[in-house]
Amino acid sequence: MNNAIFNMERPVNEHAMDYAPGCKERKALNSELTRMSNEVIDIPLIIDGKEVRTGDTGKIAMPHDHQHVLANYHKAGEKEVKMAINAALKAHTEWSSFSWVERVSINLKIAELVAKKYRFVMNAATMLGQGKNAYQAEIDAACETIDFLRYNAWFTSEIYKLQPNSQSGVINRTEYRPLEGFIFTVSPFNFTAIGSNLNLAPVVMGNTVVWKPSSTSLLSNYYLMKIYKEAGVPDGVINFLPGSGSLISKTVLEHRDFTGIHFTGSTGTFNGIWKTITENIRTYKSYPRIVGETGGKDFIFVHSSADPQEVAVAIVRGAFEYQGQKCSAASRAYIPESLWTDIKNRMGEMISRITVGDVNEFSHFMNAVIDEKSFDNIMGTIGYAKKSNDAEVIFGGNGEKSKGYFIEPTVILTKDPHFKTMEEEIFGPVMTIYVYKDKDFEATLKICDQTSPYALTGSVFAKDREALNHACRILRYAAGNMYFNDKPSGAVVGQQPFGGARGSGTNDKSGSFLNLLRWTSPRTIKETLIPPTEFTYPFMKEDRCH
Ligand code: NAD
Repeated sequence: MNNAIFNMERPVNEHAMDYAPGCKERKALNSELTRMSNEVIDIPLIIDGKEVRTGDTGKIAMPHDHQHVLANYHKAGEKEVKMAINAALKAHTEWSSFSWVERVSINLKIAELVAKKYRFVMNAATMLGQGKNAYQAEIDAACETIDFLRYNAWFTSEIYKLQPNSQSGVINRTEYRPLEGFIFTVSPFNFTAIGSNLNLAPVVMGNTVVWKPSSTSLLSNYYLMKIYKEAGVPDGVINFLPGSGSLISKTVLEHRDFTGIHFTGSTGTFNGIWKTITENIRTYKSYPRIVGETGGKDFIFVHSSADPQEVAVAIVRGAFEYQGQKCSAASRAYIPESLWTDIKNRMGEMISRITVGDVNEFSHFMNAVIDEKSFDNIMGTIGYAKKSNDAEVIFGGNGEKSKGYFIEPTVILTKDPHFKTMEEEIFGPVMTIYVYKDKDFEATLKICDQTSPYALTGSVFAKDREALNHACRILRYAAGNMYFNDKPSGAVVGQQPFGGARGSGTNDKSGSFLNLLRWTSPRTIKETLIPPTEFTYPFMKEDRCH
């Protein structure tokens, strides 16, 4: 099958279903939600394609109804981590020499299975396990998962086409080798699509992985593993290890054949992993590739020429969709004094119509935050703002955790542009607003740029084109994904390659060819068709011209 040149077509993005009342998709999703809510499944480790049960178990509950258990899962110990590494290394030999067309075909089959046969399974698992409403689950577990797979197939074919020049008598080739060793993938709770892509981006480039999923996204992540198997991913290529992050990473990061990490999660966790890699650097056969997308403190910056209604909608959607638990969620805004009262009134009216509740009731714009630890952290931060002389909670501010982890959409107004909630990631439904004097546009842009250690996403709202351009110049390094007149969340694969720098990560742009390039170690092969037979060069001969 290698005696042909294949080209993958540039894909189009998967269309999001809207789940409007009465439509057949809504019925299918509801029946899947009912089925999953009425069972308690057992989630094993999956090593070398086999299910492994350790008996050291944890529970997976619904964030909106935390006494309702959806699954029990088994946790990996040191022994299983070593088994998973060995399985990945064993599978590397065959998978790394598979034709890339076969690897891409498996990827495309996974995309097709998610798009059709398992769409409602993936959405229901993400809704119940990770607390997303139907639309948020659809754009993540279905559309983004599918887009990553289809675009990666195309990017792979584009990358392999890149070949060096050959001159007369010489043939030059670049072989895109997978990395030598195994890749460690570590995923966050908040996006099913990210969990899938952290694995399949290295895998489509011929690598094998040891996957540490987040404990609070295990339900959807386990279904992904089943789909991978059905699509034909060979045993050992992706090894699934639920359990403690620190325990698993300790063994993984001490291994000589550890050759890269594909991480998404908080900055603190990533910094800890980076430090351990540095300490162990002499252990490794190769310099590991370190790829991590981390936290954000994403902003909306408003110029006095902006439309107040557009700004209010962007704040409400950008800050409160999925309870503010997107790395790209808007969490600080800079608003000119001249527009503040108008924007505040419009925002207040919208927030008064937001309800927070059960994911099975489709009318709710918001649902529960992921778990008790997160609930307590967010409520602690809101409590801090309530007590401060520099801030005032102007909307929301209450939470209730007796049944589910529900927090109202909350807006803090501060007089201090460096107030704690203007600088630190909260990862909950909390927006902090700083109102600036219109004449201080430029100075406030500089404050926005220098306020937080992160640089993930940001928006500028203005009708005045020069104001947009000026803001874009000053905020050049403040965000890896910049939006003009739009909310700073909702990046689409193939359209807005995603990632930030500074404290937000290595900016390797998931959803673009740039990310895939990190998972290959190219080899250049030069062939000389007729090799020289004399070692001397012409310049060495005696000069007879004079
Ligand atoms: P987290 O850092 O708590 O956990 C991420 C993963 O790391 C989990 O699987 C966790 O079990 C694991 N982990 C924890 N300690 C570990 C250790 N010592 N060694 C190895 N693994 C360890 O993050 P989270 O709460 O799951 O996700 C939210 C965070 O992720 C936020 O900070 C958010 O901004 C970030 N995020 C960033 C992006 C992005 O693209 N920049 C996307 C999604 C989420």
